[in-house]
Amino acid sequence: ERVELNAADCGIDVRLVDERAYKVVSTLKDAGYEAYIVGGAVRDLLLGLRPKDFDVATNATPEQVKGLFRRAFIIGKRFRIVHVVYGRGREHEVIEVSTFRAYLDAGAAEQVSGNEKTSRKELGDKSHVVDASGRVLRDNVWGPQDQDAARRDFTINAMYYDPIAGVVVDYHGGIDDARARVLRMIGEPDMRYREDPVRIIRVVRFAAKLGFEIEPGTRAPLRDMASLLSNVPQSRLFDEMIKLLQTGHARASLEELRKQGLDHGLFPILDAVFDPQHPPSEERLEFIDLALADTDRRVGEGKPVAPSFLLACLLWHDVRDEWDTNLRNGVPSFPALQQATDAVFNARIGDISGRGKLAADMREIWTMQPRFDRRVGNGPYSLVQQPRFRAGFDFLRLRGQVGEVEPELANWWEDFSLADDETRDDLVAQAR
Ligand code: ATP
Ligand code: MG
Repeated sequence: ERVELNAADCGIDVRLVDERAYKVVSTLKDAGYEAYIVGGAVRDLLLGLRPKDFDVATNATPEQVKGLFRRAFIIGKRFRIVHVVYGRGREHEVIEVSTFRAYLDAGAAEQVSGNEKTSRKELGDKSHVVDASGRVLRDNVWGPQDQDAARRDFTINAMYYDPIAGVVVDYHGGIDDARARVLRMIGEPDMRYREDPVRIIRVVRFAAKLGFEIEPGTRAPLRDMASLLSNVPQSRLFDEMIKLLQTGHARASLEELRKQGLDHGLFPILDAVFDPQHPPSEERLEFIDLALADTDRRVGEGKPVAPSFLLACLLWHDVRDEWDTNLRNGVPSFPALQQATDAVFNARIGDISGRGKLAADMREIWTMQPRFDRRVGNGPYSLVQQPRFRAGFDFLRLRGQVGEVEPELANWWEDFSLADDETRDDLVAQAR
C-alpha cells in the first residue's frame, strides 16, 4: 500500500539535503521522469542525521540518465547504475542513480550453477539470474516504483523522498519502524537472506550504527543463513566488512556480530582476532580495541579513515608472530618482515579488488615500525619525509598506549615531526 506523507511533517529538514542530489532529482523531473532520493539517505534524514551519501532512484533507464548529465558513467554488471559526478579531485562527489527494479521472483528467474567467475560468461544478456541457492547474480529488469520498494532490504531503507515536492513515499511501514527504532526485513526474511546473504552483515551493521532492535522474525534466520556467506565473492564480503568497521560504531558492530554468533568462520580478518580455537592475548585485544575506538572517534569527528590503518592494526600481531618465526629460521630482519607481511596479507585478506594499493599501504605502516627504533644518523630525517609517516606514527602511538613500546618513543617522534631543523638535531643528539 502506497502511503504519501508531507516530508516536513515527518521531521525531514530539507537543508540537510545535498545540493547535488537535489539537482539530480530536479533535472530528472524536468525531463519528465519520476525521481526521488532513496534508501539510506531518506532513513538518515528521517532520523535527523546528515546523510553521508545520496542515492537517487528513477524510472529513467541508465542510458536516459546518462544523456541528461555532463559527467555520468554507467557502471556495474550485476546491478547496472549510473554515477553522476560533480567536482574534481578530492572535492568530487558522486550521486548514484539507479533505475527502478522490477519485483524479482527468485523461483521464476533463470537459474545457473557455478560461481561468479564461471557464470559471468554464461550469463550473457540475461537480466534476472539466480544461482542454485537463490542468490541473485544478475538483476537488471526495470519496473515500477512499488516493485522497486519491495526489493530493497529493510523497511527503513525503502522510502522515497522528493525534496522538490516535499513528499515521502512509503510502501512498507518504514516511517513507523523508524519511529519505533526497528529493523525489519521486507518480505519473507529467509528468502531475502538467500537472495543476497550480504544482508546478514547489513542487518548487523545497521543495528549497530543506528542502535535499532532487530525485529524477531528478521533476527531468527541469521545464524542458519550465515553459511551462505561462503558463496559470496570475497571482494563483496570485504567491502561490507570494511563498511561494518568504519561506520563509526565498529565496537558496537563487532559486539552485535558476537551476539548473533557471526563473529567467527565468516571473515578471515575477524578469524585472525576472534577464533575461539586461538583466543587472542589480552595485549592484542587491548590493541585492537584501541584501534577500533580510534577509528570510531575519527569517523565521529568527520575525519577520513583508511581501511589500511585499521586492517594493519587487526593483523599486526599475526605479522609480529610470523616475523619472529622467520627470524628464528635465520632470515635476516628486513626480508623476514617483508615475507611476514605478504604471508599475513594473503592468508587474511586475499584476492580482493584494490588489493595492490591496500597491501602496499599496510606494508608501509608495518615496515615503518622498526625504523622508529633507530633514532640516529639520517634515519629520522628521511622517515619523517615519508608520505605515509602520519599513518605509521599513529600506529606507533597505539603501540605505545598498550605498552608494546615506551610511550616516550611516540612522544619523541611527535616532537621531532613538529620541530625545526635545529631542534631536530638536538632531539637526535639527546636520543643517543
Ligand atoms: P549507508 O548509510 O551505510 O550507506 P545505505 O542504506 O545507504 O546505508 P547502501 O549500501 O548505500 O546502504 O544502499 C543504498 C540502498 O540500496 C539501501 O538503503 C537499500 O534500499 C538498497 N540496498 C543496498 N544493498 C541492498 C541489498 N543487499 N539488498 C537489498 N537492498 C539493498
Ligand atoms: Mg548509502
